[in-house]
Amino acid sequence: MIHFKNISGLLLFLGLCILVGCSPQEASTKKSPDAEKTPDVQESSQEAYSVTVSIPPQKYFLERIGGKRVNVNVMVPPGGNPHTYEPTPQQMKALSQSKAYFSIGVEFEKAWLERFQSANPRMRMVDTIEKIEFIPVPAAPHDDGENDDHEGENEMDTHIWTSPEMVKQISQSIYQSLAEIDPQNETVYRKNLEDFILEIEGLQENIGQTLSNTGNRSFLVFHPAWGYFAQEFRLEQIPVEVGGQEPSPQELAAVIQQAAAKNINVIFVQPSINPLTAQTIAREIGAEVLVIDPLAEDWTLNLQKVAKTFADAMSR
Ligand SMILES: [Zn+2]
Repeated sequence: MIHFKNISGLLLFLGLCILVGCSPQEASTKKSPDAEKTPDVQESSQEAYSVTVSIPPQKYFLERIGGKRVNVNVMVPPGGNPHTYEPTPQQMKALSQSKAYFSIGVEFEKAWLERFQSANPRMRMVDTIEKIEFIPVPAAPHDDGENDDHEGENEMDTHIWTSPEMVKQISQSIYQSLAEIDPQNETVYRKNLEDFILEIEGLQENIGQTLSNTGNRSFLVFHPAWGYFAQEFRLEQIPVEVGGQEPSPQELAAVIQQAAAKNINVIFVQPSINPLTAQTIAREIGAEVLVIDPLAEDWTLNLQKVAKTFADAMSR
């Protein structure tokens, strides 16, 4: 037994000699004093910088393109509502650390972007939706055009990030700004952008396939956050809300009629918003209420999941 232990001990000892003994020697003979200094210089200039975005999916886009170079702050927390959000005093303070603010056109930005800029005049304001073609917020079903209870009806739909095609354009804008803010790393950002575009194209193919065999192309959703997704993948979004508000009894009746006529048996709601109205409609047409999240941070995975949920609901 002792003999055996000795042999394994010897083997271990020899192994350690090979591992520890050889590599430092090899490394030290190859390294010149200059080579040792270079990484330090690079590292100090590689320190990450802070940027701020409005909603969680943008954090995903920024991290995909900025990589480890960016620390991303998000204004609207998970479960928050970008239509009504108000930044906290701590968030306003944190803006002073931000090199740039990336806006995406969500509602609260209208009231706050100017204040963000005055909180940090040196912060670069990046409008990532400059080149986007917006679509209008869906009108009420059977709208006679004389009902002006809902002034928001002709407003533009702000949920552009639910369309991968739109996110390609947003990403281009993010890349351009990062390359200007930090030109030293332009090649890194360009490579990251290329990788992300490939990821998006894979996603588009995946979603297209997932939705290819659904007989029904219409879906019913309480808050119409999926208009751009629907446009890109040739689906019909039927919203319950009208211009961002609960429907009137007549409008509700029209929605129920439309959903029944189209054999719809699922009504989608957002997490944290599961209004009584949704339950009422579900009861009326014998539908199930399902949750999908337009604001999930893990954007690619989430859109894949949502496509699958739509496909299952529309194949019932
Ligand atoms: Zn919304």
